[in-house]
Amino acid sequence: MSGSHLVDAHVHTDNSCDGHDSLMVICEHANRAGLRGLAVTDHAECHRYWRDHFDRAVRNSFFEIKKAQAAFRGQLAIGAGLELGQPLHDPAAAQDALSAAPWDYVIGSLHLIKDHPDFWKVDYTTADVPALLNCYFQELYDMVCWGKFDALGHMTYPLRYIVGREKIPVDLAEYRDAIAAIMHKMIDNHIALELNTQGMRTEYGRPTPDLDLFQLFHALGGRMVCVGSDAHFAKDVGANIADGFAVLQAAGFDEITIFDRREPIMLSIM
Ligand SMILES: [Zn+2]
Ligand SMILES: [Zn+2]
Repeated sequence: MSGSHLVDAHVHTDNSCDGHDSLMVICEHANRAGLRGLAVTDHAECHRYWRDHFDRAVRNSFFEIKKAQAAFRGQLAIGAGLELGQPLHDPAAAQDALSAAPWDYVIGSLHLIKDHPDFWKVDYTTADVPALLNCYFQELYDMVCWGKFDALGHMTYPLRYIVGREKIPVDLAEYRDAIAAIMHKMIDNHIALELNTQGMRTEYGRPTPDLDLFQLFHALGGRMVCVGSDAHFAKDVGANIADGFAVLQAAGFDEITIFDRREPIMLSIM
């Protein structure tokens, strides 16, 4: 595989509450790692958007991206992105984040279901896992129907914690119809499916989602896929992107999609 299209489409800076490094440090690292480009996708967590001042954070993030684009011009392509968390928990917050800047790329993510903590904080010793997952897929379906984003982030995010950390087995075959319905709606609404490599660096050891769901997406006619590290440290920028490309190739994809001013561009990964 040629490394010429190594692009990391999911990166957090210290403008995200859980990000650790400044964008300048991240870009230096991405350059040394041989990346062609990255998309900065700091968080806008809609369920606590106003309380925790994400309205300021997303505008600040865009300003930092503009500075980095000027500093790294000709060396590194830097996309201005946003990770919009659970937009339907506060659609007005989502709309504020979307209109805050001329974004290149918006990831839609679901980190929690209504009236529950983030999946990484759920107490799984007392939780009804099938009920949680049914709610998760129902909320994802509602999100992709709403559709005001370019890629669905880390589909099956709860499995990082349920399977990866808690070692509770989950058979996704039980949710196949719900997942297929989500994917059909994504295809109708031109929403890409993200392969998130974060889990490949943890005890989970797998991308989110895994190969089987990319095979399903491809079989249903999906062609737009993105790959991101979900790095929260500069050292993780670009991590496992080439491994992610290999998973996509195994599922039948020969291109990834990146976004410029919210318009898709196809890049070969062969
Ligand atoms: Zn996320
Ligand atoms: Zn993220």
